[in-house]
Amino acid sequence: MSRVISVLGSTGSIGRQTLDVAEKLGLRVAALTCGTQLQRMEAQCRTFRPLLAVMADETLARQLRDRLSDLPGIRVASGEAGLLEAASLPEADTVITAVVGMLGLKPTLAAIRAGKRIGLANKETLVCAGELVMAEAERCGAEIIPVDSEHSAIFQCLMGNQDRGEVKRLILTASGGAFYGWTRAQLQTATKDQALRHPNWTMGPKITVDCATLVNKGLEFIEAMRLYDMTPEQISIVIHRQSIVHSLVEYRDGAMLAQLGVPDMRIPIQLALTYPHRQENPAQALDLLSCGPLTFAAPDLETFPCLGLAMDAARVGGTACAILNGANEVAAAAYLRDKIGFYDISDGISAALDQVPAVQDTSLEAALDADRQARAAVEAYYRRIGKVI
Ligand code: MG
Repeated sequence: MSRVISVLGSTGSIGRQTLDVAEKLGLRVAALTCGTQLQRMEAQCRTFRPLLAVMADETLARQLRDRLSDLPGIRVASGEAGLLEAASLPEADTVITAVVGMLGLKPTLAAIRAGKRIGLANKETLVCAGELVMAEAERCGAEIIPVDSEHSAIFQCLMGNQDRGEVKRLILTASGGAFYGWTRAQLQTATKDQALRHPNWTMGPKITVDCATLVNKGLEFIEAMRLYDMTPEQISIVIHRQSIVHSLVEYRDGAMLAQLGVPDMRIPIQLALTYPHRQENPAQALDLLSCGPLTFAAPDLETFPCLGLAMDAARVGGTACAILNGANEVAAAAYLRDKIGFYDISDGISAALDQVPAVQDTSLEAALDADRQARAAVEAYYRRIGKVI
């Protein structure tokens, strides 16, 4: 079990829940990093007394230093250098990577190379450079325990499996997001406020929009391929509105194993910290007699084109997934600022995939370059159709 953790992205939804779990488990905290949420960061530093606290830039770092001047034991750093140091601080044995987006890639690699256990909550890392990340983890003997609820479920359903060849397929469940059942006509005018009303999970804004477009499930499809070394044909997606069955594994003999629980991220977060052991958790227990019927349906790829785009990118491989992810990061951020419509997200991703050639190269440089090109391509596309993002 972990004893000392560092949390990258500690003021976000997963970061806060990680600290909640860590406090109950009595774990110490070596480093905390955040973007711009100064007040929340100060409060976390006062509670957890990390050795290192990292802010997005030096101006914010200076402000945090001032606020913490009565606590000389906490060093404050900033920017990418600070993030990389937090990821590899020798005092921590486990690093929870809960930063949002491509920003998480380099620190995740730094933590892997420092031999940490990784509680992986940054799916973009595996989407953009999954082959490289998994190869580095193998080379450095770093354990990667997924925090994403679906991948944690699969991780649990694979416990005890000796031969991956016995696995027929992985089945990822999807809640369907805020717009499940909506028609294309209704979605033309769907706003970000409507997108942010997720039926079951309370999460950060970017992932909640990703759930509404179903691109989140597409990113998770790619994440599952990388984590469990599966082909695209070995992964299926089913809509399961209740978010009680978190995912399943089907074995060669027809046996299907599922992991069930209330939709509460503290369960997968805690398992990443306590694995291979299990402990009491503050999350509510699932009551099978009151949770109602569990339903399963096929996803609607025509109304939600982002999912199909992601599955296509997974089949192309190489840098196609990094292109998809980079374009989506720009598009989702623009949608969150009310600058574009719902279908501009999938149109933007599609334009980037058409314009930026995917190359079969799994290096970090290739992933970063594809990401840059995709961002530029989607920005150019929005300019062309007259949207100011
Ligand atoms: Mg998930």
